[in-house]
Amino acid sequence: MNKELEQASFSQGGSEKSDVLHNLADYKFYIENHGCQMNVYDSRKIVDLMIDFGFTQTFNSQEADILIFYTCNIREKAAQRVFSNIGFLKNQNTKVIAVGGCVAQAEKENIFKHKGVNIAFGPQVYHKLPSYVSSVLSGQKDKILDIEFEQDKKFGCLHDRREVSYSEFVTIQEGCDNFCTYCVVPYTRGREYSRPALDIINETKTLLKNGAKEIILLGQNVNSYHGEAPYINIGKPKGTWRLERLIQEISSLDGLRRLRYTTSHPKDFTTELMEIHADTPVLPPFAHIPAQAGSDRILKMMNRGHTAREYLDKLKKFRDICPNIHFSSDFIVGFPSETDEDFEDTLKLVREAKYTISYSFKYSRRKGTPAAVMDSQVSEAVKTERLKILQETLLKDQIYYNNQLVGQTNEVLFEKVGRKPKQYIGKNAYSQSVIVESDKNLIGEFANVFIEKASENSTLGRLA
Ligand code: SF4
Repeated sequence: MNKELEQASFSQGGSEKSDVLHNLADYKFYIENHGCQMNVYDSRKIVDLMIDFGFTQTFNSQEADILIFYTCNIREKAAQRVFSNIGFLKNQNTKVIAVGGCVAQAEKENIFKHKGVNIAFGPQVYHKLPSYVSSVLSGQKDKILDIEFEQDKKFGCLHDRREVSYSEFVTIQEGCDNFCTYCVVPYTRGREYSRPALDIINETKTLLKNGAKEIILLGQNVNSYHGEAPYINIGKPKGTWRLERLIQEISSLDGLRRLRYTTSHPKDFTTELMEIHADTPVLPPFAHIPAQAGSDRILKMMNRGHTAREYLDKLKKFRDICPNIHFSSDFIVGFPSETDEDFEDTLKLVREAKYTISYSFKYSRRKGTPAAVMDSQVSEAVKTERLKILQETLLKDQIYYNNQLVGQTNEVLFEKVGRKPKQYIGKNAYSQSVIVESDKNLIGEFANVFIEKASENSTLGRLA
């Protein structure tokens, strides 16, 4: 889409008019994204905003005039990677470098210490990026820092996706009020904000109409969702909907085959949500409920708001209500002052919880969080050793679970090709990888698969 900058001057971005730029389509942008699913959602929206504004997307960084890095700051590695990639991807055509996302929010003006960066933008202002890029291109500005929290304005500026995939994310909630002591989210994404239910329903309907089959509802603390209810009775206050109500509404939309949501907090997992799992066919019998640790002392220091027993009791209740439910979790090892006994409590919790799959990480200090300045930081060597033991323990359950699948038929949504010719890889209802061979391209298709073999990280089968 060709546009003159003057006509495209972006009202929300506060950009001034430029007499210098004429054909924005001549400027190519390349976007690189590191981080969580919400970063993927944001990056897709940024691509659409840039194209709607008039810029052209390229998938070749070497011909890009505009380099955009959109990066998470939850783990140190993601932040380091973006800074090394700036040097690597910069080329003779590069006119603008923009660094956005949680890393920009956390680093603020320090981002500009990295040579060549023109724009640092937080995750709540990416709707203004096209306008900021044009300001730099036209020479009006050289450095722009915007780390305001404008969630409501941002969502108001987003349009329907240009290209819809078979699996789409829909952000329903952002930010967090929980302030876990190791986590940067409340500082980088801001306080909790829930989008109005009607906006979410309309976005989901459009995605489904345009070909999406799976919808993944995203939120930093998704089960604390409390968005404005759709307008129902004239003259009465609208009230709010919780996640439970939103799921009920979305699950009945035409075209939806699978509905997921992430990431949940154990303390916000209600009995009603468990019951909805039992009654809603499009909701897989699978829930990601991060425990993080199994020691009550460490959970308290983390400010998680529950004990290990309370957590395990929730899983038990969930299994009572929904007998075929499977769980996954996240764990952090080596939180400050974690002793061998604390770590043993984590292993105990894992043995009792019996996860289908889990993700575990070494604690890493994040600047500005309370845990970063706590005494008794655990040495790298101890963290490495504990992570190895934890992962071996988790893997045992994962292998046991995968073996249980042999002989069953699973419904699988295929996502990518495998390493061998004619191989396709998809996910079953429990988010486990399933590999099949097929002459037909299966990407984006649901198919029933008879599971014949299991390995540590995946299962192999044939189309049923
Ligand atoms: S609930 Fe999740 S997003 Fe919120 S502070 Fe804790 S870890 Fe971070």
